[in-house]
Amino acid sequence: MLHTEVWKRIQASLKKSLPGHAYNTWFDPITSIGLNANELILEVPNQFSFEWIESHYKRVIENAARQEIDPQVSLKYTVAPVKTPPPPAPEETLPPAPRPDQPRLNHNYTFTNFIEGAQNQFAKAACRSVAESPGQQAFNPLVIYGGVGMGKTHLLHAIGNWIISQRPELRVVCASSEKFTQDFITAIQKSRTIEFTRSYRQAHVLLIDDIQFFRGKEQTQEQFFHTFNELHQAGRQIVLTADRIPGEMVGLQDRLLSRFQSGLTTDIQPPDFETRVAILMEKAEQNGVQLPYDMIEFIATHVVTNVRELESTIIHLLAYSSLSNREIDLPLLKKVIRERMGKRGLRAVTVEDIIRRVADTTRITELEIVGGSRKMPIAEARQVSIFLCREILGTSLVNLGTHFGGRDHTTILHACRNIESKVQSDPRIQGLVEGLRQEFAYTGL
Ligand code: ADP
Ligand code: MG
Repeated sequence: MLHTEVWKRIQASLKKSLPGHAYNTWFDPITSIGLNANELILEVPNQFSFEWIESHYKRVIENAARQEIDPQVSLKYTVAPVKTPPPPAPEETLPPAPRPDQPRLNHNYTFTNFIEGAQNQFAKAACRSVAESPGQQAFNPLVIYGGVGMGKTHLLHAIGNWIISQRPELRVVCASSEKFTQDFITAIQKSRTIEFTRSYRQAHVLLIDDIQFFRGKEQTQEQFFHTFNELHQAGRQIVLTADRIPGEMVGLQDRLLSRFQSGLTTDIQPPDFETRVAILMEKAEQNGVQLPYDMIEFIATHVVTNVRELESTIIHLLAYSSLSNREIDLPLLKKVIRERMGKRGLRAVTVEDIIRRVADTTRITELEIVGGSRKMPIAEARQVSIFLCREILGTSLVNLGTHFGGRDHTTILHACRNIESKVQSDPRIQGLVEGLRQEFAYTGL
C-alpha cells in the first residue's frame, strides 16, 4: 500500500473517533511523506502541533495506525520547514506608512510573565507558536476569546513584543477594534484612505483586540473584511481577541465571522485556585509587596472573578498601606477586598461549605450529617453544623430544616439551643465550635 493510502485510512479512522474541531485542527493538516519498513513518516505543520499531538493524542493516533495498518507499525514525525511570510509588497517603495503599532504595545505584557494554568495553557501555547512562526495556515487567523480580565490583551501584546524583539524586520500592527474604527473614520474625513489602507495592509502581523466592538459598524466591518482578506491571502498572520466565541457574536457580518473561524479559535477560562495563587505571587513580586502565603491564599479564595481584580487587589493593598502608614495585615486586606469588590467578588460561604468543614473536622460524613441517624457523634455533628449555619449565615430555621434532611423548625431550634448551652458547659464542644468559628471568621469576611 502507498504511504498516502495508509495515512488516508488512519485519517478516516481518526475522523470517526474524534470531535470535528480536533480532527480538523490537528490531523487534517498532516501529510504523510513515506513508509519505511514499519515506520510511517508524517509531516506536521509546526513544532507546536507536534508537541500537542504527542502530549494529547499519542495513544489515539498510535491505536488507529495499529488497527488500520499493522500492530507493529510505528509513527515518526517531522516538522514542516518554516515558511517566512512573503516579502513586503512592492508598494513598500512608497514612503513608509505611519505605523499605528509600536507605541501601542504594552511592554510589560510578555510571555515570560504570563502565568500558565490549565485554563490558559492552550491559548498561551498557540500564541507562542504564532509568535515564533507567524503565518502558519492552521493558526491563521488565531482567535482568542474569553471574559474580561482573563489575559487576552496580555497575550496579544506578548505576541507583538516577541516578534518586535526577535524579528525586527517584520512589521507588527496592533490596534483595538475601536482604534481601527477611529482611524478609518478619520481617514474618510480627511480623505486619507490610502494611507489608512496602507498602514494596516502592510502589516506582516496584524493584532486586533476586542473585535466585538465592530458590532453594528457596517462600513468599518467592510473595510476590515478587505484588510483581513488581503493579509490572509498574502500569508500574513492575523490574531484577534473577542469576548466570546465568534460563532456567538451578534452584530458582525456572517462573512466576517466565517473568516474568523477559518483558523484556530481558543478560549481562556477563569484561573483555578492554584493559578490564582501563582499569579498573585508574581504580581506581588512585580509590585515589590511582601505578602505572607496565607494572605495570598486569602485573596485567591475571595477574588475569583478575574485576573485584573487579583492584580488590583495587590495594588490597592500597597496604596492603602503606604498612604495610611499601616502594615499589611489581615484586617487591612479584608478591608481592601470588601471595598474593592463589594459582594460580587466574594465567594459567599454556604450551608454546604459549613457542613463540609464540620464533616472534615469530625470525620462524620456529609451524608450522615444531613441524614436520619440519632447516634450520638452523628447527631452532635449535625447540631453543631446547624448552630454554625444559624450563627454565621443567619439562615432561617425553616430554611435550615430543608438543608438538614427536611427537619421541622422546632428541631432546628432545639439543636441551636442545645449547642449554645453545651458551648458553655462542655469544653470539648466549646473547642470544636470555637475552632470552626475561627475558620469561618477567616474565610468569611
Ligand atoms: P483581558 O484583555 O482578557 O480583559 P488583560 O489581558 O487586560 O485581560 O488582563 C488583565 C490583567 O491581568 C493584566 O494586567 C494582565 O497582565 C493580567 N493577567 C491576566 N492573565 C494573566 C496571567 N495568566 N498571568 C499574569 N498576568 C495576567
Ligand atoms: Mg483586553
